[in-house]
Amino acid sequence: MTISRDEVLAALATVDLAGTPLAGSGRLSEIAVDSAGRISLAIAIEPSEAAALESVRAAAEAAIRVLPGVTGVFVSLTADRPRGALQAPAARAGVQSEDARPSGRTPRVPVPQAIPGVAQIVAVASGKGGVGKSTLACNLALAFQANGLRVGLLDADIYGPSAPKLFGLSGKPRLISGRIIEPLDGFGVKVMSIGFLVEEDSAMIWRGPMVMSAITQMLREVAWGDLDILVVDMPPGTGDAQLTLAQATPLAGAVIVSTPQDLALIDARRGVAMFRKVAVPILGIVENMATFVCPNCGSVSPIFGHGGARHEAERLGVPFLGEIPLDMALRESSDAGRPLMVDQPTGPHATAFRAIADAVWRRVASGEAARPAPRIVIA
Ligand code: ADP
Repeated sequence: MTISRDEVLAALATVDLAGTPLAGSGRLSEIAVDSAGRISLAIAIEPSEAAALESVRAAAEAAIRVLPGVTGVFVSLTADRPRGALQAPAARAGVQSEDARPSGRTPRVPVPQAIPGVAQIVAVASGKGGVGKSTLACNLALAFQANGLRVGLLDADIYGPSAPKLFGLSGKPRLISGRIIEPLDGFGVKVMSIGFLVEEDSAMIWRGPMVMSAITQMLREVAWGDLDILVVDMPPGTGDAQLTLAQATPLAGAVIVSTPQDLALIDARRGVAMFRKVAVPILGIVENMATFVCPNCGSVSPIFGHGGARHEAERLGVPFLGEIPLDMALRESSDAGRPLMVDQPTGPHATAFRAIADAVWRRVASGEAARPAPRIVIA
C-alpha cells in the first residue's frame, strides 16, 4: 500500500506547534515516502527551540506511525535554517546538494560532544566519490574487530548509503526506548546507516542541514554501547556539509582514501586541507586500487601509476597507511554483502586491512595523532 503525502499531512493535523497546526506552520520539509512504507521528514527550528520542540517531533512521529501501511518513521529537528526556507519538493526532487548554507546565513556548528561509552571516533573520508571509501570503511571496521577491538560503523554517507549492501544487512533497526534505536549487527560490528531508515532516493534530496540533523541523531540516538572505536563513513567530497560534519563530530582523526590517479590525489589534498581547517588530525592516507591484480594469472600491474598516494602523503607530511590493490574479489565480495575481511580473513587483503587498522589504532590510542604536527611548508 502506498501512503500519500496528503495522508501524512492529515495525520499531522492533530499535532500543534505553538498553537498552530504543525502541517500549516511552514516548518515542514518535503515528506519522503518510500515504497517500503518508510516516512521521513524534518521540522525546521531555531537551535534554541530544540529542547522545547522535541515533544512536537515525538508527537509527529507518533501520529504518522499509526497510519495504515507505515513501517517506519524518521522525523528530525533541523536547525541552521531560516523558518520556512525549506524548498518545495518539486524543486528539489533528485537534486543532490552539498549546500549547507541557506541563503545569506552561515550555518551554526554544533559543539562536538563525546558519545558516552565510545572511546574513539575515526572518520574515513575521500575528496570525491567512487574511490573505495565505503569499501575501506567497512573492511577497516572489521579489521579493528579482528584486531580485538569493540567496533561500530556509522554510515554517514547519506547521499549514497552503502553499509546495508556491504554488510549484507536488510533489516530495520529496533526502537529500544524512547528515541533510542539499536544498531544492526554486521559480523560483530554495530552498524547504523540512514539506508536502514529511508530509501536511498529519499536521502538524495536532503540538503546540508537535514544531513547534519540526521547524522547527529545517528551519532547520539543509537545504542552504541561500549565501543573502543566508531568508524564514520563520511559523505564524499569537501563541501560545506562535509566541513560542518567534520567539525560537529568529536573525531579522533581522519583516514583519507585516494586512488593513485592525479585527479584523485588533488581531491585527497582537498580532503587533508578540509580536516586541517577544522583541526581534526589526519591519521593518514590509504591508496586504494593501487595496483591491478589479474584475476586469471594473478600478475600485478600498476595501471594507474602506483605510489602516488605515498608520495603525496610524504609531501603533505601525513602518514602513509598502506595500499589496497584493485581486485575483482574485493568488488565481488562487497556486492555479495560478505566483506573480504569476513570471507577471506587470512588472505592478503585482510592482512593489509589489519595492518592499516593497527597503524590507525596505535595513532589514536597513543594520543599521537592529537599532537600538533610539525609545520610543513609546501613550496
Ligand atoms: P566510495 O565509497 O568512495 O564511493 P565504494 O567503496 O562504494 O566507493 O567503491 C566503489 C566501487 O568500487 C564499488 O563497486 C566497490 O566494490 C569497488 N571497489 C572499491 N575498492 C576496490 C578495490 N580495491 N578493488 C576492486 N573494486 C573496488
